[in-house]
Amino acid sequence: MSLQLVDLKNVGKSFLSADGTARSVLEDVDFTLNEGEIVALLGQSGSGKSTLLRIMAGLIPADAGDVRYRGQPLYGPARGIAMVFQSFALFPWLTVQQNVELGLEARGIAAEERAERAEKAIELIGLSGFEGALPRELSGGMRQRVGIARALVVEPEVLLMDEAFSALDVLTGERLREDILELWQGGNMSTKAILVVSHNIEEAVLMADRVLVFASDPGRVRSELKIDLPRPRDVNSPAIRALIDEVYALMTASRDGLPAAEPAAKPLAIRLPEADVISMEGVLEMLAEAPFNGHADLPQLVEESELTDEELLPIAKALHMLEFAVVAHGDIQLTPLGRHYVDGHNALRHELFGQQLLAHVPLAAHIRHSLEQEASGELPEEPFLRLLRESLDKDEAERVLQVTIEWGRYGEVFEYNYNNGLIHLPEGEEDEQEDAAEKA
Ligand code: ADP
Ligand code: MG
Repeated sequence: MSLQLVDLKNVGKSFLSADGTARSVLEDVDFTLNEGEIVALLGQSGSGKSTLLRIMAGLIPADAGDVRYRGQPLYGPARGIAMVFQSFALFPWLTVQQNVELGLEARGIAAEERAERAEKAIELIGLSGFEGALPRELSGGMRQRVGIARALVVEPEVLLMDEAFSALDVLTGERLREDILELWQGGNMSTKAILVVSHNIEEAVLMADRVLVFASDPGRVRSELKIDLPRPRDVNSPAIRALIDEVYALMTASRDGLPAAEPAAKPLAIRLPEADVISMEGVLEMLAEAPFNGHADLPQLVEESELTDEELLPIAKALHMLEFAVVAHGDIQLTPLGRHYVDGHNALRHELFGQQLLAHVPLAAHIRHSLEQEASGELPEEPFLRLLRESLDKDEAERVLQVTIEWGRYGEVFEYNYNNGLIHLPEGEEDEQEDAAEKA
């Protein structure tokens, strides 16, 4: 058996939410990173992936469970573990060389050796000739290479990459990923294990020996897929296509079939998928038409729609939630209701959307109900935000309310005034409400 580099058992982590109560972000996470492997971690945004990486790097402590590096409990930043972040985190006033040397300075390494090792790392990552450049003189892809060089210069045994390719354009991201894989295959780096957090299913399947799918609320490992294929891998080969399909299926698997102890979140505070109405409509229309005719393989739909996984998956989830489509086993199928929607004119579309929203998004129903209780037909958004913040952090609460409002406006369930932050019943209905109040 290969050496276990980082080993997590029953790891848990909570953060304090706005009202002072603890919110569980990770629960019972079991995960081992072994020597010689690349593992990819996929999961919804907010599911705790970055938190997990920070725990593994010893940057923050876990509240529960056991974290070990080479069999020893991890109490602080581990020397053998380096992390690459999505944001480049370079110092703008330092040159490439100085930015890369930073990691070594902290370790008290003498200037001469620092310079030598930084040069080597810079060369390794393909930036020779740019040692004296300032970050602003570099493209995004090159800046990210500096970030990676800064991680590699400490010759880490374990490299944790947190969406390191996500901020780059597709081609630049691909090239950088290929270079990393080449370094890995060539045995030119000290690194013995890599964990990559990614949003991109294709990237995960092309890189990893194992793909882990993370569940949210609280975050934990939901499923795992082993990939026993040599690298470099051809994205168009049938084997890889089949694996990509399989990961889509894992990512969209319904929670119904899972063991109990599912969301501890309050039913009102559902993390609604980040899907705008225009895109939902567009995807439904595309799905209804040839070549799909109501049924598509999600990866194919990604290709056809020119959306990324990160964009399409929330849309698919939203359509499933509202019962316009059913997502299962990596496929998406239009429901009769979805067909009715696509065939309908605008007025009917709004109406169907509103009806589904009230039936399936408890927060929307709650807001609508609360507005109906008010003589004025309007309410400030704050109480709803407060309600969400009992179980979600500030940004997520705001995002969920924003999605609910956007969906509610489209479904003509309520309106929102951007000037004063008041949610109110749609025009017309407001008058009825006032009439009723006067009569009462
Ligand atoms: P991911 O990387 O999967 O998107 P994160 O690990 O960044 O998820 O965050 C998981 C959850 O924990 C989020 O709701 C986030 O807001 C919350 N969180 C992360 N760090 C902190 C912190 N230092 N204090 C409070 N909440 C945090
Ligand atoms: Mg993250």
